[in-house]
Amino acid sequence: MPLTPSVTAVARVAYLSSAVVVDTPSEFSSYWKSLPQSSLHATALISCTAPCSPALIRLLPHLPELSNRPIVVHVAARGDLADALILRAAVPYFIHSSNAQQAHDNALLASRLARIEGKAVVHVFHVGEMDDEVEEVSEEKVKPFLFAEKHIRTPSKAVGRAQSPILSRPQSPIRRPYSPSPVRPYSPTPKYANGHANGLVNGLANGHSRKGSDVDGRHSPRPMTPTTPMFTVPVDPTTAGLLEGYESAALATLALVRRSQRALTQHAHTDPHTVIFGFCRTSLGFGIDGVAYVDVSLLSPLPSSRILGAIRPSVRHVIVLEQVEKWTTKWTPFFLDIVNVLQHRDPEDRPSVRSAYLGDTSGLQSEDVATFLEAISTSKPSSSYTKILSHLFADRLEISNSPSLVPFQGELATNPEFSLGRIRGALEERAELIKAVQELLHDSKLPPETHSLFSRWILVKDDFMRSAQIEGEIISALQSGIDHPVAARISSLREHFRVKSRWIIGSDAWSHDLGASGLHHAIASGLNLNVLILDTLPYTTRNTLDPSRRKHDIGLYAMNHGDVYVASVAVYSSYAQVLQALIEADKFDGPSVVLAYLPYTADDTATLDLLKETKLAVDSGYWPLYRWDPSKEAAGKEPFSLDSDAVKNDLQAFLDRQNHLSQLVQLVTSLGETVKAERKKRAQQAYAELLSGIDAPPLLILYASDGGAAEKKAKRLAGRAQARRLSTTIATMDTMDMMPAQRRHSDWCKPLAKLKYSDLDAKLAVLGGERFAELGLGDDQDADGPDTGYKAWEPLIWKALGVESFEVHEAEPEPITNEHIKAASSYLRGTIAEGLEDTSTGALAASDTQLTKFHGIYQQDDRDIREEREAQGVEPAYAFMIRVRLPGGVCTPAQWLAMDQIADEHGSGNFKLTTRQTFQFHGIIKKHLKPSIQAINRVLLDTLAACGDERSLLCDPIIIQTACQVYAFAKGVSEHLMPRTTAYHEIWLDKKLVGGEALKDFEPLYGEFYLPRKFKIAVAVPPTNDVDVFANDVGFIAIVNESGELAGFNVTAGGGMGVTHGNKKTYPRTGSVLGFVTPEQGTIVAEKIMLVQRDNGNRADRKNARLNPPVFIRSNIDDFGWQTGEDGKHHFTCFIENGRVQDEPGRDFKTALREIAKIHKGEFRLTANQHLIISNITTADYLISRLDNLDFTGLRLSSSACVAFPTCGLAMAESERYLPLLIDKVEKICEENGLRNDSIVMRMTGCPNGCARPYVAEVAFVGKAPGTYLMLLGGGYYGQRLNKIYRESVTEPEILAILRPMIKRYALERLDGERFGDFVIRAGYISPTTEGKAWYEGMGGEGPYREIVA
Ligand code: SF4
Repeated sequence: MPLTPSVTAVARVAYLSSAVVVDTPSEFSSYWKSLPQSSLHATALISCTAPCSPALIRLLPHLPELSNRPIVVHVAARGDLADALILRAAVPYFIHSSNAQQAHDNALLASRLARIEGKAVVHVFHVGEMDDEVEEVSEEKVKPFLFAEKHIRTPSKAVGRAQSPILSRPQSPIRRPYSPSPVRPYSPTPKYANGHANGLVNGLANGHSRKGSDVDGRHSPRPMTPTTPMFTVPVDPTTAGLLEGYESAALATLALVRRSQRALTQHAHTDPHTVIFGFCRTSLGFGIDGVAYVDVSLLSPLPSSRILGAIRPSVRHVIVLEQVEKWTTKWTPFFLDIVNVLQHRDPEDRPSVRSAYLGDTSGLQSEDVATFLEAISTSKPSSSYTKILSHLFADRLEISNSPSLVPFQGELATNPEFSLGRIRGALEERAELIKAVQELLHDSKLPPETHSLFSRWILVKDDFMRSAQIEGEIISALQSGIDHPVAARISSLREHFRVKSRWIIGSDAWSHDLGASGLHHAIASGLNLNVLILDTLPYTTRNTLDPSRRKHDIGLYAMNHGDVYVASVAVYSSYAQVLQALIEADKFDGPSVVLAYLPYTADDTATLDLLKETKLAVDSGYWPLYRWDPSKEAAGKEPFSLDSDAVKNDLQAFLDRQNHLSQLVQLVTSLGETVKAERKKRAQQAYAELLSGIDAPPLLILYASDGGAAEKKAKRLAGRAQARRLSTTIATMDTMDMMPAQRRHSDWCKPLAKLKYSDLDAKLAVLGGERFAELGLGDDQDADGPDTGYKAWEPLIWKALGVESFEVHEAEPEPITNEHIKAASSYLRGTIAEGLEDTSTGALAASDTQLTKFHGIYQQDDRDIREEREAQGVEPAYAFMIRVRLPGGVCTPAQWLAMDQIADEHGSGNFKLTTRQTFQFHGIIKKHLKPSIQAINRVLLDTLAACGDERSLLCDPIIIQTACQVYAFAKGVSEHLMPRTTAYHEIWLDKKLVGGEALKDFEPLYGEFYLPRKFKIAVAVPPTNDVDVFANDVGFIAIVNESGELAGFNVTAGGGMGVTHGNKKTYPRTGSVLGFVTPEQGTIVAEKIMLVQRDNGNRADRKNARLNPPVFIRSNIDDFGWQTGEDGKHHFTCFIENGRVQDEPGRDFKTALREIAKIHKGEFRLTANQHLIISNITTADYLISRLDNLDFTGLRLSSSACVAFPTCGLAMAESERYLPLLIDKVEKICEENGLRNDSIVMRMTGCPNGCARPYVAEVAFVGKAPGTYLMLLGGGYYGQRLNKIYRESVTEPEILAILRPMIKRYALERLDGERFGDFVIRAGYISPTTEGKAWYEGMGGEGPYREIVA
């Protein structure tokens, strides 16, 4: 490939300035080949040259080490800068050149900067064009330039320069001399600029065609005035020093090349309303009124004060335009930096900030920029759908009523009738083109090659891909001239050779009057067009609409036409379904209507609110997801696909009438059944009222119970009240509307988390409660537990209700416990099989739900819509969670594909990789339970004993030589401890016992009572402990002998994570090391410990234990990225945030993993931190792979959350949906303090059951009530030490207020290699937890950080 002037110039500078040049195959390579190897220069500078490619990520682990060495990495980019930008966080200097001359000058600047400052510099430039011009510095000047003294510029030397307000701050700390820290290494991404690094001598021609000014105001037509507000940015000395170094090098470069090098260059307007920050190839100096442009050359250290200076008070919009396309997080670091800088502005005065991607800039005109600005100023969340359309159909997308047409065609252009006219015209023109081509083909004198070309097009004219391939050839043939009368006509219609995807986009306002809006005409036109209607009404405000303005159901209206494709979609419910519907609509030959739900009220509506509103609407049946494709009927297929399990009554009626969906109808609760249930409820209510009138006052018992103890007590009290003929109702507290005018969660439950019993009592009095018995107090710490207090209190109730003398003759029924249920279940059968047949409810019998856990199935209901459904008088939205048994977390690609399919066909469209190293499906309705289990069994997996008193087994997803031995051991233990019941096969797989009823099940290990609680086992392979071996009932820590063979295990026992809030008898515990066992002894030891737990006996194996030397464990998080095993195979650990495998806009992980599974020949290994290892990749595949989703902060990579809302029945607060949002904020604090890449283990659970093992995290949050958490600190980094309660109740602002100074201190004061969990103990925030029993000792913090805890 010929070298462009940019590449040649940069390569030449690297060659002239370096002692060593390291090249990876790149644009540079041919330059190096032409040079003698020996003539490099003794400058101690090392230069690397590389292309901008995903391979750069391999440099990342080494850069922090190299950051204090004189190294320059020159990266040559073609288009997307994302791969290069990844390096930014790891080096002190990151410089960008947007044109060839700048690439030459910045290459010199970077070389001097690296040599003089002794720091690593990444210089990214664009490869450019062959005709670029570069004025090169002569060879003899390079060495003196590199070795000249460091030039410290002082403000007084700046000639004729208008002073920036920031410069004039008298106490600016950056005026202190810079002294690099002798101890601490470079800390990446310094966030605060100093406001001092103020540029260059002014007034020199820059040699560029564009005219610009430094953002300090140099060259500015209008200098800053005394009235310009003063903005200040906090300054840190390290950044100040780095900027000073840059300025010095820039000054030296200016003296050498006589062209100024600026960190930021501003163009155009002096009082702009919009500023565009460009990090891209093109300089956008277009003269558009009110718009200023800032080209960014220095990205690290970011000159924050100058950025702030560029955003003048008149600016209302800031746009960050980057040539960064494939970025894995929502926002790029530069965008976040700009947002961060703006935090220093008065909130009233802050402009809005938008981010945009700049693609191919060749031929960019000022009109394009104006169109872009218009689009961005009108862009709303609704662009979610238009973005998908652009993504799917790219340049064949035609939005016929696009606002961009308004300047040319007037306001009318957005009217549907007008767009319909445009489409009709375009289709007629295409028909005319086809006719003209056919006429041409009938001419027998046509040259054969022309005939062949047009015939090929006629054959594929409706296939967008193939017709597009021929289009180019046809147009060149037309341009070179075809001698035929219709050729001119064909040429004038050439834009129609390609198949367009034509869309009209409208709002639900069109549905008020279908005729007047023109929608009817579009639907009835029969034309091949697509209509996308956005409905933005949030579900919770649907009843506030003016009833006289009733909306028509456009979907039903269109379906009744019979020849219209109709789909109802919601991007925040199912992204995959949106894609499918849009593709189907485009393919359908006729009108298509896609109804798209996007419940937003303002541009800044929070994503979580969009999610919740969408979920409520979809799950309640208000917004059913479906696709109706009449063309399928002709092919003998079912035209209707229901993509959500709820369906509206109207739609139901339509479907019934069409008689297409007899099977589907059974899936949903019919109207008749709802009425029956409602009648039954009313009758029960009337009966209860009758009873209360006859006997005694009604008694309502409310309870709040997180661990089930209060619930048991409440039920017992209810039973005793009923035995005394009291009409008794029992309910949880949050089902009661104590304050009807307000919502329950926010005003009742949430404060409860912070309330003590006395506050609650007082609150009831305030609400008008009348005391009929004294308050009773049971103390958990009494010898008899709370019973001591309870027994004294209960008689007071009977007395107050006048039933104290009532004799209860019949023995009070003992509450039914799980043990009773298990014993009576006939080895876990119960009445599950009958329950599955019962279509009158979506639930199973309560006792069966205790048994299905042993089958790997949990009954749940959607907590998001529980209240809503209760208000509607329908049963909760029951659905089931299925957990697969996957010992060691290893599966084949075929098994992965099956899981992917099960999630789509039976579940919620996504699935979770759990902390128990397995797959978990949510949202499986009763009808789909059996098919799901059967599908799992078809790929040789099962779910038996995956939940319940589980014997689930974790195993480090190891990739070392001993992998097979350890995995075989783990699998063997799991198989050995499996229950032997055949109920599973009978119920789910329709297999009968060979001996019929005569043969009874027998459980040699468990008996008919099974285990008293869950039993968890883990196998760890040092030095990693990602399974948190100490958190398990039994742990095996592998010992490998000198020859790499598995020698045996150190065994731990007694770990556990279950806690009940406020009950000090419960505490987490890390397992104690018992001794050493060989692999052969391991299985039997696990069995014996399990039996000890079963029988509550003594632990017997201790005497013979022989402890091996302690093993070294270094972390309990995953090693992300590439690793190569001893056998030369490669393994990639992917980051799957909180284990949720799903497709999201821009992050199609589920699809990507499915595609990988289709070609992968190794295994998938699930980690106990909910991530995934794509394992055993051959070298050939490794070389072509593009797995690189790892640009996350150390904090995010070390985080983990349990599922919690909306599916977990025990959740008290959000976890999986909230932790990523909290991390967004905490990682900002980390980044501000230079800790972007430092791992801090942060975990969150929705309740104290501890599924994500929060008690061994360095910092953890355990849900207490919506938005309120217990905060724990001081856990060991590799799970060896429990943390401790630091605050009993914190909300997000409190969490951030606590963590901000703590993280800052950690950054400044930590010892070499000291972990956050250890630091908070040494710094005196909290005392260490020495053992589980001492967990409550010292809770609430230490010394000045102590908060009094009751
Ligand atoms: S820890 Fe999380 S997933 Fe586990 S029971 Fe509690 S809320 Fe549910």
